[in-house]
Amino acid sequence: MQFSEDEILLIKLCKGLVQICDRINRGEPAYLVEDSQPFPQPLYEAFQGLSLKWILRDEEMRHPAILCMVEGARKSVEAVEPDFSEFVDYPEDPLIGNMTRPSEECEAWASRYALNLEREQNQSYIPRLMAEIERLSLPHSTYTLFRRFIAENPFPSDLIIALFRSNNPDIDPVLDLLMQAYRDAPPQSESMPLCKTCGGYLDCAARDIEGCCEPLEGRVDRAPIEDTVICLIRPSLIELRLARTLEKMGLQVELWPELDKADLKVTLPTGDIWAIDAKDWGSATMLARELNQDTIPNIGQSQSFFVIPDYRWTNLAYQAAFKSRYKGNLPVFSESELIKRVKGVLK
Ligand SMILES: [Zn+2]
Repeated sequence: MQFSEDEILLIKLCKGLVQICDRINRGEPAYLVEDSQPFPQPLYEAFQGLSLKWILRDEEMRHPAILCMVEGARKSVEAVEPDFSEFVDYPEDPLIGNMTRPSEECEAWASRYALNLEREQNQSYIPRLMAEIERLSLPHSTYTLFRRFIAENPFPSDLIIALFRSNNPDIDPVLDLLMQAYRDAPPQSESMPLCKTCGGYLDCAARDIEGCCEPLEGRVDRAPIEDTVICLIRPSLIELRLARTLEKMGLQVELWPELDKADLKVTLPTGDIWAIDAKDWGSATMLARELNQDTIPNIGQSQSFFVIPDYRWTNLAYQAAFKSRYKGNLPVFSESELIKRVKGVLK
């Protein structure tokens, strides 16, 4: 039997949604946390097909975050199969918040998935940057310079890049990799602006990140690729904020020391070194699960800490969800608790 392209797309879509609903019905998570592929394969393929359709039809991507497409998919299914739609449309669907966007849990998993998959296949520019720095015996500070530039410049013009190069000649051997963090700016419109802080589209759960995501004013030529947004710029917001605060207190701070063994290496006036990993995750559950298996490698520190942003920690539900699941050995502080501790030492 021959199917048309549309029928194949619909079959894949339905199959994927049914698999997800089956999991929910059986009391399992809709996505398999420990699996290399958390979502059903047909759903990925259907979303790819739908995206292409939208781009061909409207010349724009309707649902930039892949998980927003679950909502799009729901509507498409509704249009052709009302009975089926009733069957799949659960009010407590854990993937979608407010019926319009993926839940934080969903986004958190999505970013982890993208990062790990890229790392495993060694495709991302970050592991290749690390390898190049070792191969060419460049100073480790090259990594910090590289990363900080991207975190602080989501939309660099040619002039900004030229200035960066002339101030930092160590960057030239890895300039190709730096440029891989960016792409030509995607279509920008009033209905779908980019975020001026992280460079991502605004239609995503990252709106919950403090200071993110407000619309960019004016047009830009160059924007970060999605991996850069998810894996580098957004996680760096808290890291840069902490570095600035600690530097203002007169401390010596090194970001991402020894090729990213920690987020911050803080040297106290006593000579003691603190190693800090900062985590701005929307899902407290996923964060606890992650930190239960995480340590900070040796960079000469006497103490190690995990730090969580105040704006997340003051949410008592978040804090409780984290504390009930965190079984690790390292102390976990909010940003202000960490600063209090530093002040205590400085007295
Ligand atoms: Zn943003």
